[in-house]
Amino acid sequence: MMTTLVKPSYGLIELFQLDMVKLRRFLVMIQEDYRSQNPYHNAVHAADVTQAMYCYLQEPKLAQTLTSCDLLLGLLAAATHDLDHPGVNQPFLIKTDHYLAALYKNSSVLENHHWKSAVGLLRESALLSHLPTEDRLSLEERLGSLILATDISRQNDYLSEFRSHLDKEDLCLTNGGHRHFILQMALKCADICNPCRPWKLCQQWSEKVTEEFFHQGDIERKHNLEVTPLCDRQSNSIANIQIGFMSYVVEPLFLEWSRFSDTRLSQTMLGHLSLNKQGWKEGRDKPDATNSRASEEQRTSVAKDSNSRVLPQGSKGS
Ligand SMILES: [Zn+2]
Repeated sequence: MMTTLVKPSYGLIELFQLDMVKLRRFLVMIQEDYRSQNPYHNAVHAADVTQAMYCYLQEPKLAQTLTSCDLLLGLLAAATHDLDHPGVNQPFLIKTDHYLAALYKNSSVLENHHWKSAVGLLRESALLSHLPTEDRLSLEERLGSLILATDISRQNDYLSEFRSHLDKEDLCLTNGGHRHFILQMALKCADICNPCRPWKLCQQWSEKVTEEFFHQGDIERKHNLEVTPLCDRQSNSIANIQIGFMSYVVEPLFLEWSRFSDTRLSQTMLGHLSLNKQGWKEGRDKPDATNSRASEEQRTSVAKDSNSRVLPQGSKGS
């Protein structure tokens, strides 16, 4: 995360006159505020989302129009979007009468908590204390609006708005509101881009997130609560969860994103997505196939044939 912010091409540190000691403290606080015992929602996920966001911000349409403030905000939002994630989902917090559910009135409970935690760290670190109060408050508000967009239960609202803009071709990135909307979409993509990474990475992230889901299911079972179907290790499988997630959540989002930003990076991500879905289907149909050498070789050759590329790790995507 540190590298992303100090990249000379952005010069955000000089531009916003950020104090390096405060910045370092702020980044360490972010890392420590993620719970390392969560198999998935930990600081590594935050770093992964920040890396993806960094790549999307460099896509030509964004790079040509985003302001320095947009860039700083996009990276900040990516790094903090899951702060202090408890490793369980919102319905779990509601049914167990968790104080966060009451605090945020059962609405975007986790995302509100991530946002408020981020604001807390920003203020505690005094990273932006030299900026005018008005700018600071507006930045905190926009940060909230970005983080709240990662609430997956509101996915369809964002997706239909995105689709409608693309159909009407009326996105105008000189308009601040439209740029903010694109930042929201970019963050949403970054948050769920695991299935658009090469198979090995996609597979590892899937294992981590399923471990976290099943852990929640185990707690529900232990306390005689209704077991969330997604979290039930007795009736669900990693392959089925992934195939459903890719088909109904990831693919629709990335198809629209590639309409907006039709670049090599977008096409590469869609290519991986399709191969990975096929990989999970093979695994589901033949339980031993997922890890078998034969199927791995097969996938590699398919990847080569389709001229597929690895998602650049911090390099220009198009
Ligand atoms: Zn996330």
